[in-house]
Amino acid sequence: MVDGSLQNRVCLVTGASRGIGVAIARAAAVAGAAVAVNYRSSRRQAELLVEELRDLGHQAITVQADVGSSSDVAKMYTTIERELGPVSLLVNNAGVSLRELVTHTSDEQWELVMNTNLKGPFLCCRQALPNMIRNRWGRIVNIVSIWGLLGASCESVYAASKGGLVLFTKSLAKEVGPSGITVNALAPGPVETDMLAEELTGPELQDLAEQIPVGRLGSPEDVAAICVFLLSSAANYINGQVIPVDGGWTA
Ligand code: NAP
Repeated sequence: MVDGSLQNRVCLVTGASRGIGVAIARAAAVAGAAVAVNYRSSRRQAELLVEELRDLGHQAITVQADVGSSSDVAKMYTTIERELGPVSLLVNNAGVSLRELVTHTSDEQWELVMNTNLKGPFLCCRQALPNMIRNRWGRIVNIVSIWGLLGASCESVYAASKGGLVLFTKSLAKEVGPSGITVNALAPGPVETDMLAEELTGPELQDLAEQIPVGRLGSPEDVAAICVFLLSSAANYINGQVIPVDGGWTA
C-alpha cells in the first residue's frame, strides 16, 4: 500500500537543534513519527524544538551525542530505545563545513569534518541496522551536498566527506536492500541556515541566489519535504539514489 504516513515509526534525526535538521524533525513529527532530536552542544535549542512538538501533540525527546563518537552513539540509541522504541527511520543530517585551502588545513580540522560527516553516519547506521534487519524494514536518508558530487574549490575536505557518504549510501543500499531497508541521500544546494551564513557574506549569497534557476536559495523545508517522502512507504522502490535538492542549479 502506498502510504506517506510515518505513524508508529521512531525517527532519529541527527543534528536537529538547528537548520535543516529542525525542519526534518518537524516534518517527520507532523507525518506521525515519534522523533528523537539529536544535538551536540545546542541543548536549549533542541529542548525548545521538543517542547514545540510536544505542545502540538507529537512524541519527541532530545538526545545529546557527538555522532563521531561510538560510545556517544551507543548511549544515544539506548536512550531512544528505552524512551521511544527501536529506530526504524534514520536521518544522518549532522554535519560541519570547512572552507579552507588544503595547504592551511590542520589534522584536527580534517578529523572533525570526517568524524562528523562520514564516521557519524557510519556509526549511526551500524547501531540502527540490527533492529531494522530483524524487523525487515527500515529507512535511512543521508544528507550529503552537491559539493559531494561536483567538488568545490576551498572545500576539498568537506566535499570529500560528502563524496564518501555518497558511495557509502549506494553501497549500503545494495547491502541491506534485500533486508527491506532502503538507503538514499539528498544533496542540497545552498540552503539558508547558520552553516551558509558562516561561510558567505550577504552579497555573495545574493549572487548565488541569482545563479539558481528558481531564483532563490533553498529553505530547510525544501529539504525536509523530500526527506519525509523518502522515509515513507510511498518511496518503497527508491533505493541507493542521490537526489539533488538545489532548485535546478546542477541540472
Ligand atoms: P547547521 O545549521 O550548521 O546545523 C548543524 C547541525 O549539526 C546542528 O544541529 C549541530 O548541533 C549538528 N552537529 C554538528 N556536529 C555534530 C556532531 N558531531 N554530533 C551531533 N550533531 C552535530 O547546518 P545545516 O546547514 O542545517 O546542515 C545540515 C546538513 O546539511 C549538514 O550535513 C550539511 O553538510 C548539509 N548541507 C547543508 C547545506 C547548506 O547550504 N546549509 C548544503 C548542503 C548540505 P549543535 O547545534 O549542537 O552544534
